[in-house]
Parts: sequence; structure tokens; C-alpha cells
Amino acid sequence: MSLLSIIVPCYNEEESIIAFYDEFISVYTSSIIDYNSEIKYELILVNDGSKDNTLKLLKELAFKDENVKYISFSRNFGKESALYAGLKNSSGDYIAVMDADLQDPPNLLPKMIIALDREDYDIVATRRVSREGEPPIRSFFARTFYKLFNRISKVELVDGARDYRLMTRQVVDAILDLSEYNRFSKGIFSWVGFNTKWLEYANIERASGETSWSFWGLFKYAIEGVMAFTTVPLVISTVLGILISIISFLYLIYIVLSTILFGNDVQGWASTVSIMILLGGIQLFSIGVLGQYLGKTYIETKHRPIYITKETNIEKE
Ligand code: UDP
Ligand code: MG
Repeated sequence: MSLLSIIVPCYNEEESIIAFYDEFISVYTSSIIDYNSEIKYELILVNDGSKDNTLKLLKELAFKDENVKYISFSRNFGKESALYAGLKNSSGDYIAVMDADLQDPPNLLPKMIIALDREDYDIVATRRVSREGEPPIRSFFARTFYKLFNRISKVELVDGARDYRLMTRQVVDAILDLSEYNRFSKGIFSWVGFNTKWLEYANIERASGETSWSFWGLFKYAIEGVMAFTTVPLVISTVLGILISIISFLYLIYIVLSTILFGNDVQGWASTVSIMILLGGIQLFSIGVLGQYLGKTYIETKHRPIYITKETNIEKE
């Protein structure tokens, strides 16, 4: 007998969660059981401080179906925290994480399970090959982010990779060992390694409701990701400092020589001011980068919990 854990973070998903449940059950009863009738499931629905009726619906599902577990946070902690809570409370041999809005099609699950069973893979991940239905400007920034990130970081992010994936117990245990507070899942998933098979599919728009990502939110998320997985920005400011020192030293020699040779007529107010502003800018930038890392370190050293549970029907916790 083996157990399939499905982890679903839910934030204001009252419009999607029932449809998600029905879809999953239909895939389970038609294809998964068909493939292997020994596979049981547990659905771990994590309510991330929703302000609508999500929790009520989760409880109703749990009442109706004993394989439904829910964890409800004391406030909104973010998807990363919800994923962590789900993984931590899962006991499956196969563990899947997926969104509640049906953008991650449950009908890929049978294929994913088969790949873990029959091929030598530890993870089956998904990536969307199109970004249809997304504002073009957002796609542009997303693409640029992936390019930049992969250039400056050793951890590789796959463009278009979703969080939707199926993993073995071993992989999940490795992920749980990374107990950092600033959780950038895309990076963590990649950092732990293991053999990954990629399934591709075209983008599917949200079944209902709205995405909770604002542009600013995504921008901050991108910065988080860079901070969490590389210290190259610190190197950049160091290199900038060294370069500018060398250039200004050469310029100093030039000034001294030209004063000796040609005399000193004072001029160049504009250039002086430009140089000062440029240097001021670079200094602020570097202090900012430094401050970001220091800030992250400060938050990490507090060792605050990644999430706080208010209600759950899972006994383990
Ligand atoms: N989500 C969450 N906490 C949040 C924001 C989102 O648990 O603070 C969940 C949300 O309910 C959904 C998944 O994360 O199941 C992905 O969110 P969304 O669909 O808004 O993001 P997108 O698909 O646009 O990347
Ligand atoms: Mg979505």
C-alpha cells in the first residue's frame, strides 16, 4: 500500500476549492486507482489566512471525506509558508504540491506517478511552455528575471517552472531540512538536487477568482529569490568599488601631471558635481545591497516560526 499526499495552499479560494476537490477525486477514481488500486490519498489543504469562506469549505470537505486534512493559519503567512506546513504534515510516499485554482491540472498526476515508479526519477516537475493570458510586460520581466538569476546563481531556475510537482519522500525530507525563514521554494526545489523529469504543458488560466500577485509583489519576490540563493550582488558592489578606485587613481595621476606641465586653471564645476552624484549613487546602491543581506540575516537569526496554526484536524501537530 502506498500513500499519495497532495498539498494545496489556499488563500481566498472559496470559488475554486470545491471544483479542485471534484476534479482531483475524478482523476483519482478514474486513472490513479486504475493504475494501482493500492494507492490511497490524503489531501492536505492549507488555509493561509483567507478572508473569505475558504476555511468553512475546507472543514466541510474534511467532514465529508476523512482523507481531507486541513491546517488553518492564524493569519496570511504566504504561499511558501503554506507549502512548508503542508510538506511538514504530510506522510505520503509520493508528495505532490499544487495550486487550488486548477492552473495545475490534476490529470497530470497519473503520468507523474508512473514516471516516479517506472523510471529512475525522484521528482516530476512541470513547466508551462506558453504564457498565454498573462500581460506581456509581466512575461517580459519574468523572462529577464530567469535569465539574470541563472547567470548570477549556481542554483538553476527553469523558465516557466511551476511549483506543481510530485516528489518522493526522500526529496521532501531533504526540503524540510532547509528550515530557513526566507523560503524561496523555486530555489529550494532546485537546490536539493535529485533527478527531475520535466513535463510541459500550455498555460491554463485561473478557473475563477483572481491572482493574488501584484506586480510589486512579484518584484519583491524576485529580489527575495536572488538574496536567498546568491551573494553575487555583494561581489558586484565590491567590483564596482575596485574599478572606481583604479579609475580615480589614474585620473589623479593625470591631474597632477597636467598641473605640473601646463599649470592650474580652475575649471570643471559641472564635471565635479557629476562625479560626486555618480559616486553618491553607487555608494547608496552598495549600502542598500549590504543592508538587504544584513536585514535578511537579522530576520533569520530571530528563528521565528515559519507559520502558526490556529486550527487543524491533523493530530501529528
Ligand atoms: N496562495 C497562498 N497564500 C498567498 C497567496 C497565494 O496560499 O498569500 C495560494 C493560492 O491560494 C493558490 C496558489 O497559492 O493556490 C497560487 O496563487 P495564485 O494562483 O494567486 O498565483 P499564480 O497562479 O498567479 O502564480
Ligand atoms: Mg494561480
